[in-house]
Amino acid sequence: MSSPQIVWLRRDLRMADQPALYAAAQAGPVIPVYVFDQDRAGDHAYGGASKVWLHHSLESLGKSYGARNSRIVLRRGDAPQVLAALADETGATCIHAMRHYEPWWKEAEDELRDALGEDTKLCLYDGNYLLPPGSVTTGSGDPYKIYTPFSKAMLERLPPRDPLPEPGTIHSPDGWPESDELADWDLLPTKPDWAGGIRDFWDFGEDAAHDRLEWWTDVVAEYDEGRNLPSEDITSRLSPHLHWGEISPAQVWHKLKDKRSDGWKTYAKEVIWRDYTQNVIDQFPDYPTQSYRDYDERTLWRNPNAGHLIAQDLECWQKGMTGYPIVDAGMRQLWQTGWMHNRVRMICASFLVKHLLIDWRFGEQWYWDCLVDADYGNNGVNWQWISGTGVDSNMFVRIMAPLTQSEKFDAAAYIREYVPELADLDDACIHDPPDDRRGDYPVKMIGHKEARERALEAYRSSKD
Ligand SMILES: Cc1cc2nc3c(=O)[nH]c(=O)nc-3n(C[C@H](O)[C@H](O)[C@H](O)COP(=O)(O)OP(=O)(O)OC[C@H]3O[C@@H](n4cnc5c(N)ncnc54)[C@H](O)[C@@H]3O)c2cc1C
Repeated sequence: MSSPQIVWLRRDLRMADQPALYAAAQAGPVIPVYVFDQDRAGDHAYGGASKVWLHHSLESLGKSYGARNSRIVLRRGDAPQVLAALADETGATCIHAMRHYEPWWKEAEDELRDALGEDTKLCLYDGNYLLPPGSVTTGSGDPYKIYTPFSKAMLERLPPRDPLPEPGTIHSPDGWPESDELADWDLLPTKPDWAGGIRDFWDFGEDAAHDRLEWWTDVVAEYDEGRNLPSEDITSRLSPHLHWGEISPAQVWHKLKDKRSDGWKTYAKEVIWRDYTQNVIDQFPDYPTQSYRDYDERTLWRNPNAGHLIAQDLECWQKGMTGYPIVDAGMRQLWQTGWMHNRVRMICASFLVKHLLIDWRFGEQWYWDCLVDADYGNNGVNWQWISGTGVDSNMFVRIMAPLTQSEKFDAAAYIREYVPELADLDDACIHDPPDDRRGDYPVKMIGHKEARERALEAYRSSKD
């Protein structure tokens, strides 16, 4: 019998269109392994909401392997060392893995290559993005920094390749290596169990991702009109499924390819944004922690570590107690469900960095901890885009007006759902309730006009 093949699972928790699994299954008996390596990513170790999703996703994938008379081996520790030891233990001749572009995973891939004995090789595959990050370049071969030209160049090269099926047979090894119990990893919160809202809002795993995609095929035509309306359910909500690799973007693309509406065209550009952010972190690995413009950041930002009033401002934002209903609805949706509507993600992020003048990295970290789709590239690139501190074309002086946005995008029902203190207010005043209609709900932390002037002044000083 041929020698065992290890499949190293990371954010690729699916059976179909999983090139690493597909290749391994053709080469010999398969040992799928997930290594929980919490220390490797430093500031970007799994956040609380990510751990909840990871637990349920592994549980679901474990059942899929179980139905194929296989299983996932769970191990904890430094991924390259654990995998190299497992290859020795099992006599595996190849570790198959999907390529990941976060800097700590690229480093781990290099370390693993060095740690493997000469009888074992590492085979890497692309497939978590429409096209391999780094492969879409300008005429002179340089990677793109700005979204619009990147997107145009990508559209010329799409569609992505056809998705692969699940492997026909998955042979088991003669003996299974020992595995941890998933429950022992303590990924789920218990004291207290704050994850009830996440469980209510989501179904986890590959089947759930495909169910949602099936639903989305009927709704995508409305995306152009509806995607900015937080009160409506007119976005795909596939982001955590895509992030954890429960579904591939190629599967999404090919499923929708006959739905050539304006909604689909706009939707395709959003999925391309996901490829774009990987292209950015592939070029600038520290992008989610490092500003790329020449502001004097000591003058620009108010630092929550430097004064308790600024720390209190940060806390009001985190808890959804700013006095701006649309901002508070968004921050509470995030806390309860692990997700926030894109329009509101922008409004809340802009509020932190422009209205409160708090360094975007504090917001990036909060979203990182709370989002079930927390993604190094998507989160970091979008925060820099909102802050106007990145390599893209957006400017700091573009300041979103939360109250106008709330009215324009008809957020009344959304506010009623997530800010129940205001549920009795009518549409005319719910976006900006007069002080005598607020009850226990807080007054605004700062007026919009005052905040705008303060932000512009800080910006001017930071450029002096
Ligand atoms: C400050 C901020 C932080 C963000 N952090 C994350 C994050 O950590 N993880 C994440 O997946 N998205 C992030 N986004 C992007 C976007 O808000 C979410 O992808 C989207 O809201 C997910 O909902 P959906 O699946 O219904 O999206 P849809 O509108 O249905 O879009 C389809 C898919 O395209 C991708 N996508 C859409 N918009 C973007 C975008 N602006 N950038 C990159 N990819 C996009 C997502 O994979 C999404 O599932 C962030 C946006 C902002 C403004």
